[in-house]
Parts: sequence; structure tokens; C-alpha cells
Amino acid sequence: MKRLAALIGALLLAAPVWAEPSNSPNLELQGPMEQGGLIVGMALPGARATLQGAALPVAENGIFAFGFDRDHGGTARLIVAYPDGTHVERVLEVAPREWAIQRIDGLPPKYVSPPAEMLARIATERELKTAARAARVDETWFALPFIWPVTGPVSGVFGSQRIYNGEPRRPHYGVDVAAPTGTPIVAPQAGIVTLAHPDMFFEGGLVFLDHGHGVTSVIMHMSRVDVTEGQAVARGDVLGAVGATGRATGPHLHWGMFWRGAQVDPVNLVGTMPEAAPTATGGD
Ligand SMILES: [Zn+2]
Repeated sequence: MKRLAALIGALLLAAPVWAEPSNSPNLELQGPMEQGGLIVGMALPGARATLQGAALPVAENGIFAFGFDRDHGGTARLIVAYPDGTHVERVLEVAPREWAIQRIDGLPPKYVSPPAEMLARIATERELKTAARAARVDETWFALPFIWPVTGPVSGVFGSQRIYNGEPRRPHYGVDVAAPTGTPIVAPQAGIVTLAHPDMFFEGGLVFLDHGHGVTSVIMHMSRVDVTEGQAVARGDVLGAVGATGRATGPHLHWGMFWRGAQVDPVNLVGTMPEAAPTATGGD
């Protein structure tokens, strides 16, 4: 937060044209201003907000969220407007991050280049995911502290460039935690289940959990899914169990998170893993 305050302070000093009007209401932003960062905004009740000109949902209590994708560049312009006609405008600098390269070998070839007979199934599953992303949850659970869904050795980090059996593929949008099959997976924060599927081609057992305003946890490769779509869960409730279903080389939790089209890094919400061991296996 010190860094954030310093950054905003520097921006305001460097560009007085963006400075808040002297009587403007307060606006506080929490979260890392960097690629993969999820930001929680706290304005006053009645606020409206836009990011790069697009309206953001703002709760009645003035809380809102937005995220920066892994490949977000440069700056983002945030405007918060109040019913009395005042507004706050901030140009946020999105810091770049360095991404690791992770090679994963020994996958069955069908998970690297799916055969033609799998393409219809993959397309159908993509439609299910797209439909789930259209869900609207008005709660602001995303502003509360998160917990790890599973604890254990971290075997994959957010944003790494993936090379499967020597073939470059899309980056890894989540964190992997190695754990035995059957280990319970708990909800990192309260949410509404917007997708619950027992076995998708790539994801295996898959759950989407919307923590409000589209800030959604993605849990993959589950051996068992214990929740159903539309179900409300509390932080710490069991969602299912660790497995190695879908494109996985061993049993592990995959925890991803997105806000709208932006894939964000869940670790920013939960902090470092307690007692993470350095020798980890099992990834996707
Ligand atoms: Zn993963």
C-alpha cells in the first residue's frame, strides 16, 4: 500500500491537471498496479466508475473491482464520478512483470494438439465457459481477505510461458499446488458457483466461483466436484477434491482467477504459501 500511495502521489504531483478537485470525495485503491493485478476500489456510495471509458459495476457501498491482464501495457485511465458533479480522475501506471518459461513434458499428445474428433467437444465446453462468464453477481466478497484453497508445494506460477512436449502454448493463467488426489479444495472466498463440470477435456473437473462483479476463481483438474451451479458458498466451504483430470501430469490444484477478459494472479489476493516446499511436481 505504501508503494501504491507513493505511485498515486507521484502521479498527482507530476500531472496537476489530473489532481482531485479540492473538495472531491475520497477514493482508495488496493492491489498491485502491475500486470496480473486485481485492484479493489473504495469510493463513496453513489459513485460511478469507468476504466478506459468502459463502465465498471459499482456496489451501492461504493466498492468496485478491476483487473490488469498478464499482457496489459502502459497505463489505464480511471474516472470515478459522484452525484454532486465532482469526479476523480487517475492515470494508473501498469508495471510490467517478468515471466518464467516452464517446460512440461510427457503429456499425452492429444493434450498438446487435440485430434479432430475432440474439437467439437472442446468447442462445446468453450461455450459453457463463455456462458458462465456472463453471470452477474452483485456481492463484493472480492474485497474481503482470501485463503489458499489447498496448501502445499507450489509447482506452477501465474503467467509462465508454457511449452508442452516442446510445443509453445498459451501462458499459464493460475497457480498450481501439488497435493494428493482426494485432498479437499475449499473456497478461497465466498461466492456463487457459476460453472460446475465433472470433466472437461483440458480442465478436467472444473468450478467457476464468482466472488462478485465477475471476479471469479477457476479451480481445475478436480477428481470430485461437490458443488452445483447457482450454489452460494462461504469462504472455507469444500468445493471438491484435488485430482489429475484433464491436461495434468499429476494430482494438483490449479487456481486461476479472472475479471471480465483479464486473467489475474490469485497469489496477489492471498499472499505467499505458508511453508511451501521447493521440490514440487505436478502441473498443467
Ligand atoms: Zn495450472
